[in-house]
Amino acid sequence: MRRPKVLLLAGTSEARRLAERLVEADTVDLIASLAGATRAPKPLPCETRIGGFGGADPMAAWFKTHRIDAVIDATHPFAAQISANVCAAAFAANVPLLRLERPAWTSSPGRAWREVADLRAAAAAAPSGARVFLTTGGSELDPFRDRSDVIWIARVLDRSRVGADPPHLRLIEGPPRQSAAEEAALMTAERATHLVTKNAGGSAARAKLDAAEALRLSIIMVARPPLPAAETVGGVDAALTWVATRFGQPVQKRDGLA
Ligand code: NAP
Repeated sequence: MRRPKVLLLAGTSEARRLAERLVEADTVDLIASLAGATRAPKPLPCETRIGGFGGADPMAAWFKTHRIDAVIDATHPFAAQISANVCAAAFAANVPLLRLERPAWTSSPGRAWREVADLRAAAAAAPSGARVFLTTGGSELDPFRDRSDVIWIARVLDRSRVGADPPHLRLIEGPPRQSAAEEAALMTAERATHLVTKNAGGSAARAKLDAAEALRLSIIMVARPPLPAAETVGGVDAALTWVATRFGQPVQKRDGLA
């Protein structure tokens, strides 16, 4: 009998954990898909295709050619284009779709953030004279370049991929620090008054937020982009349960997320 074939849109740590668990359970044939944006992505434990599909219609055609029985969208919460495309493609191809989306961050009691809709609004929200620690990524600095009355301290993974930086845009190269203490030390050394960050959610990237809250910096939080409605779960266990329910195989719970 043919085993169910599941496509996993990947690129997040949740997608990796889900791939590992599905491969371990060995009840479906899994194909992962990566955008191809990362130069040398860590290999996933299953067949992996790399690169865009060319839009929703070609993706729907791809589902049919590859006889896909279900799709799980475990892309980043800010990857709005692929998430919209997969909704349209799944509908067109009549393939069941699940979105695995890690819960958004919420502010600590008494530490309200200023939430803004997008990066342009974040750039506009910083007051003149502020020193803003910016963790939105090196490819998304354009909205901030025009505000020369603010010092933007932008953390980027690879400065060679960022265009020329004007004097009011300082680049700090390197990954996010592991602990809130390290993030706080960096923010203090840079005399940051504000943090601008995207509401990515998850524990791995939370250290900067805890640091900013502890230092009582003003936080400007970019809200997640709106996505089309889809059946959604917040964790890997729940996604495994969805697969097991759909295809009739029991899966052991492990990560504690509903
Ligand atoms: P996107 O804007 O939603 O996707 C752009 C295009 O890339 C899609 O239309 C699709 O091309 C292709 N694509 C994206 N994910 C794919 C996948 N898993 N498999 C195959 N093709 C895929 O998303 P993005 O460009 O990846 O990222 C947008 C924003 O999300 C970034 O600016 C960043 O803020 C955030 N992000 C963060 C992380 C992270 O921190 N780990 C990772 C990813 C994204 P076609 O239309 O040709 O199919």
